[in-house]
Amino acid sequence: MIIVTTPGISADALDRIIEHVERLGLRTHVSRGEQRTIVGCIGDEAKLSEVGLTSLDGVERVIPVLKPYRLASREFSPENTQIRFGDRADTVVGGREIVVIAGPCSVEGRDMLFDAAHAVQGAGARMLRGGAFKPRTSPYAFQGMGEPGLQLLAEVRAETGMPIVTEVMDPRQVELVAAYADVLQIGARNMQNFALLNEVGRVQRPVLLKRGLSATITELLMAAEYIMAQGNGDVMLCERGIRTYETATRNTMDIAAIPVLKKETHLPVIVDPSHAGGRADLVTPLAMAAIAAGADGLIVEVHPDPANARSDGEQSLKPAAFVHMMQQVQLIADAVGRGMSHYAPAGAV
Ligand code: PEP
Ligand code: MN
Repeated sequence: MIIVTTPGISADALDRIIEHVERLGLRTHVSRGEQRTIVGCIGDEAKLSEVGLTSLDGVERVIPVLKPYRLASREFSPENTQIRFGDRADTVVGGREIVVIAGPCSVEGRDMLFDAAHAVQGAGARMLRGGAFKPRTSPYAFQGMGEPGLQLLAEVRAETGMPIVTEVMDPRQVELVAAYADVLQIGARNMQNFALLNEVGRVQRPVLLKRGLSATITELLMAAEYIMAQGNGDVMLCERGIRTYETATRNTMDIAAIPVLKKETHLPVIVDPSHAGGRADLVTPLAMAAIAAGADGLIVEVHPDPANARSDGEQSLKPAAFVHMMQQVQLIADAVGRGMSHYAPAGAV
């Protein structure tokens, strides 16, 4: 149930509404917008009487929630969620400007990671990606460097100031990865690993939640709801292509998912054109399409030497191609009135 309050409701009246709902054993979620304050009720709605609620001071309307997700729904929080990163909290995801996350698929070693980081930062990326724990289809393929890889990521952050996005695959590793990472990535294969979702919901680290290989949009939003229900509201949703009958591309980028998600949820939407297409030559057009369709950001694989990458080389951009992608994306970002979030060195205004 959503309670829409009257414009300019007093703090006292709002407290009485919250008290009334919580006394009945439900939790409340208050969303303060520019125009109105909305109180979302979470729990056994059968205990709430619509008549009882509308008779309270300051209640304008009571709306039943028909969607299975609540905290993630736009009805509960009409304003876009903005998530801030970096030592100066000056990187904002979910605001007007487009944020680009870039870096290698896997952390493979010090030199390549620093090379990749410098290249993507120089081209305007705001955050660095790189997996230290890799979910590989084959158990014989490179599984990632593990904790030494996380340490390298932390070193790069110390040098460049770029926030780090890295995957966590196992509930038992959440504490370890959270000690190094600015953003915990949940991979497509783990989107419905509910134990993992609960665990990342209990730490105060933003989460990048990737859409499952065959997950519906509702299932993606329900996965976000798991994380939010544990108290972590900083979730970014990631469209990274879904399984279809098409074989020309690794996955099929679901472009419609972007405007659907922007309508259904207040959470930021990030698009991964690298895993969606699976081919370096498709990354730029897919990235441009994603921004044109309303995405808040991109996560892109960039490798100094894709031919020798230990994972996903065929879809990784060389640094020069990434510079070109950024120029093309900038054109689209400007055309749709968004602009790009650019890195400002310390001390710059
Ligand atoms: C990745 O980001 O490298 C990755 C494994 O992505 P996904 O979980 O979307 O396949
Ligand atoms: Mn990858």
